Amino acid sequence: MNRPGDDGMSDRIRPQPGIMEIVPYAGGESRIEGMGEVLKLSSNENPFGPSAGAVRAYRDAAHRLHRYPSEDHAALRAAIGAVHGLDAARMICGAGSDEILGLLCQAYAGPGDEVIHTEHGFAMYPILARAAGATPVCVPERARVVDVGAILGACTARTRLVFIANPANPTGTMIGGQEIVRLADGLPPQALLVLDGAYAEYVEGFDGGASLVEMRENVVMTRTFSKIHGLGGLRIGWGYGPAHVIDVLNRIRAPFNLSQAQQDAAEAAVRDLEHVTRCRKENTRLRAWLSDALRALGVDVDDSSANFILARFASREEAEACDAHLKSEGIIVRRVAGYGLPEALRITIGDEAACRRVAHAVTEFRRAATEGGA
Ligand SMILES: *Cc1c(COP(=O)(O)O)cnc(C)c1O
Repeated sequence: MNRPGDDGMSDRIRPQPGIMEIVPYAGGESRIEGMGEVLKLSSNENPFGPSAGAVRAYRDAAHRLHRYPSEDHAALRAAIGAVHGLDAARMICGAGSDEILGLLCQAYAGPGDEVIHTEHGFAMYPILARAAGATPVCVPERARVVDVGAILGACTARTRLVFIANPANPTGTMIGGQEIVRLADGLPPQALLVLDGAYAEYVEGFDGGASLVEMRENVVMTRTFSKIHGLGGLRIGWGYGPAHVIDVLNRIRAPFNLSQAQQDAAEAAVRDLEHVTRCRKENTRLRAWLSDALRALGVDVDDSSANFILARFASREEAEACDAHLKSEGIIVRRVAGYGLPEALRITIGDEAACRRVAHAVTEFRRAATEGGA
């Protein structure tokens, strides 16, 4: 008998080193036991959904399901290039930016190599590093802001990739262009800087680092259709990098990694600038409103540049109690203890009614706490 034991491990059939150290990624919760309708503010989804043109393009693709999709994503890359003023030849598209981040790890980091991410950085970075057999290295932040000096200090001859999201998730904080340049220029020669721009569109006038990509051979930018474009369910992302990096990634990418429906919907979404502008404006307005409302209740909120805020309480217990109260009101936000922020809750900026519901529920929670005579 060579049946695996109760722990699911086999003595003989073993995965590559590092894989069993992966803590599987858990997405934002979407259900509350015993409750039908919930307000989901746990995954930074766009409350306004995708562009109507994207939905139409997705439906139209149903007529051609027997055809293989374009394997070079030429039309989508051309659309992204035209809208963002970028060279489509140095672009790669994937099933979410997660696929691009994974390809980067697979191509550039292996056993013995180090992949840097930061203290409160996105959970996928260490997962993808381990999946490639590399060693994730976690660098401290300074008061929930990426610390370029600390990253440069942590680099070694084994550092191959440095991941930072700007704006960052789950903190919502950003570092400036000069800091990014200092980081890119201070890295050891064998290291590639990956700028994850999942929330770049929420910052008016910000290019996500694209101009730096064009001036350096060691900088790559990733972007997604999951956030401001409201297409998280469809899985589309893209990367922009030096020609040598894009060439490498294309060699290991599956040729049909994006269905035609994904490509067509994304193309329509990126061209719908009116929808993007409207979503950004509403987000900026409601983010300021909700941040001020929570601050007025004595909850600490850093200035966020993204479509969520990080609400910080006095303790883990208080954050958990507030989370429980929000749940009792049918509101799901994100606990971020796994990101080294046990005293905080990450709250996606919903539409106006959603923001009002959150503010109302937190007001009730704080009132009950005060009356409890704490
Ligand atoms: C949401 C998010 C992404 C997007 O991932 P997709 O695979 O494109 O859905 C990437 N990076 C960060 C930091 C995110 O928060």
